[in-house]
Amino acid sequence: MRTHHIPVAAPAPPALDALDHEQVLVRRGARSGLYTIVAVHSTVLGPALGGCRMWHYPTPGAALDDALRLSRAMTFKAAAAGLALGGGKGVICLPAHLVPSQTVRHEALRDFADTVNELAGRYITAEDVGTTSADMDLLAHFTSHVVGRPGGAGDPGAFTATGVQAAMRACATQAFGSSDLAHRTVAVVGLGSVGAALARGLAAAGAELVLSDIDGAKAELAAELGGRWLEPEDALAAEVDVLAPCALGGVLDAGHVARLRCRVVCGAANNQLADDALAETLHGRGILYAPDFVVNAGGLINVSLELTGYDDEMARRRCAEIEDVLGRVLAHAKAHGTPPLAAAHELAERWLTAAGAASGSM
Ligand code: NAD
Repeated sequence: MRTHHIPVAAPAPPALDALDHEQVLVRRGARSGLYTIVAVHSTVLGPALGGCRMWHYPTPGAALDDALRLSRAMTFKAAAAGLALGGGKGVICLPAHLVPSQTVRHEALRDFADTVNELAGRYITAEDVGTTSADMDLLAHFTSHVVGRPGGAGDPGAFTATGVQAAMRACATQAFGSSDLAHRTVAVVGLGSVGAALARGLAAAGAELVLSDIDGAKAELAAELGGRWLEPEDALAAEVDVLAPCALGGVLDAGHVARLRCRVVCGAANNQLADDALAETLHGRGILYAPDFVVNAGGLINVSLELTGYDDEMARRRCAEIEDVLGRVLAHAKAHGTPPLAAAHELAERWLTAAGAASGSM
């Protein structure tokens, strides 16, 4: 079960009056009594694929805000990755202090399946924070609109890491004139499912590593790969070619950005910037910030292949193509003198508008 993915300093949630979603379904489950929510932000490019988050919220409104914000982000992630998928997200809202029994979890998942079915394939669910691939297996008994079951695409971490390393090559091309990561110094902060796989991949590519995690036991990986072990705060400010944040979101606030001594930021963590405006600050400081939603699309690319017939080899190849995708974003940003984050949004919007015009749905 993924448990570390809640941003510590999430951007302000969208208010309902800024709603730009196609469909939002909020249902109180008949069995569990819990609110289940599916937000479909866009199906312009295809059915809206996004994970089912089972999490504690102070109010159902906060859960709704989360679903609205996350589903919008999925639209841009899928569009930037060139996938024929839209953006959606599911949320099962647990009250603040409820530790659900196995029975309540099952009831809530069945209630969620009913909500998914109401959308008749416009939304496809998957694993997310608080849910497991075993939960997807259970859901599959009650809805066909689910991916990420055991025996399918499997653990997304390694595929996400493949994509991050590919993205790093695109950054190196622009920042250092060569995609070769050999002898580049890279700090990987957060050595979980993605960070550890990334560190191994980078070591194999000949990079010199600085490794860090709040879990001191992960220092073993540094010893194994010959990397330098630093505490997270020191690793974030280390003088390296590339910083790869691979832990929680919101890790780069104004204070951290001021202290950065890297040339490139390219990592897996979602919502790395505590505030999108910091992309301008980074740009002004001459630090290339690779937009996280482009960099970390490997997990989505991997699971999306279940819809057309899963193939491990193809998944790796598609994740490696993130080098080209990000390369186009960085080239656009350079040509227009804008931060890569603005360029990524602009290109994704452009693809969405073109697809919408072609299908007559925008
Ligand atoms: P994970 O839970 O497996 O690992 C996170 C690691 O970060 C853990 O080892 C944890 O001890 C460490 N950590 C937590 N707080 C830290 C801190 N303050 N400083 C340093 N280390 C800290 O998570 P993951 O699946 O590897 O995902 C990492 C990030 O990438 C998350 O932000 C996630 O949303 C994002 N992401 C993951 C995937 C995926 O395929 N797993 C896909 C897209 C995005």
